Amino acid sequence: MNRIAIDELKQQIPLLEYLQAHDWQQARPIGFGRLLGLCPLHADHKPSFLVDPHKNLFFCYGCRRGGDVIRFAELYHQVEFPHAVALLREWRGVAPLLHEAVGFYHVQLHRHGEAVAYLQQRGIRSPELIEHMRIGYAPGGCLRGWLTQLGYPLSALRRAGLATAAGYDAYTRRIVFPLEGNLYGRSLSDSAPPHRFLPGAKGGLYSWAQAQSYPEVILVEGLFDYAVLWEAGFRNVTCSLGTHLNALQLRQLCDGPRTVYLAFDADANGSGQQAAQCLSRTLGERGVATRPISLPEGHDPTSFFISGGNAQEFHPLLEEASLCDFV
Ligand SMILES: [Zn+2]
Repeated sequence: MNRIAIDELKQQIPLLEYLQAHDWQQARPIGFGRLLGLCPLHADHKPSFLVDPHKNLFFCYGCRRGGDVIRFAELYHQVEFPHAVALLREWRGVAPLLHEAVGFYHVQLHRHGEAVAYLQQRGIRSPELIEHMRIGYAPGGCLRGWLTQLGYPLSALRRAGLATAAGYDAYTRRIVFPLEGNLYGRSLSDSAPPHRFLPGAKGGLYSWAQAQSYPEVILVEGLFDYAVLWEAGFRNVTCSLGTHLNALQLRQLCDGPRTVYLAFDADANGSGQQAAQCLSRTLGERGVATRPISLPEGHDPTSFFISGGNAQEFHPLLEEASLCDFV
């Protein structure tokens, strides 16, 4: 890629937009249009990450790193320059489409009673939570029409994974949750595979920007678990979207001293407990303490809360969770 193409890429991806798409929030403006917030690159407890949206540059007073959007992508995803450029090019292609799809699905949610009923049954009731997670509903058979009417070619929808090879909506009768550069869809129908993601990485830990500043975080495996804990008032909760953590998620959890409470499913076959053990070892080797939570047999956090559990009953489970001594 030549200099001109690199400059063009940087122009097309405003740093602030990229940061916000990766969950970054400004704590306060500091004059001359510049913004200050927590650093997504190190464990930051008081805002030290400076962004200049006009110059498209950042600098962190904590970890003393700075640069443009490509430098940020290199540091954030821990990749070399060419890989960072490739990630940004891919993001540039998919981000506007995803943005439109998320908005469209969010509107559909309130038009489909079956979707709202399903959410209620899974413990998601408050409008505040639905807005916080930007939850939507994919009825199927209408996203393609909407996006092509906005001028997006079918080939772009296929590339993003929003349309199938045959041209149908890829997500049908699914509750959708926007992620960093991806979209998780949970099927309402028993005949379809329950979980679906768009092609590409699942991104970092869910809502990490919010959980990051807590010395103790609760890690769950599914977004419905995240939702019920959030609804019960826990803000130090994050989700790995499965029990296997990718490199970015591991790095996020290990970016500073903290205790991680693991609230994985208590499966009858022990797979959740096994995954928690395995993760405890990995995190322990990196100096992060873990405390696996023992949920009542057969429960995950979702079922715990929807079967009547509340924050007062969950707190003792946190207190009883014993420290794994892998550190
Ligand atoms: Zn920093």
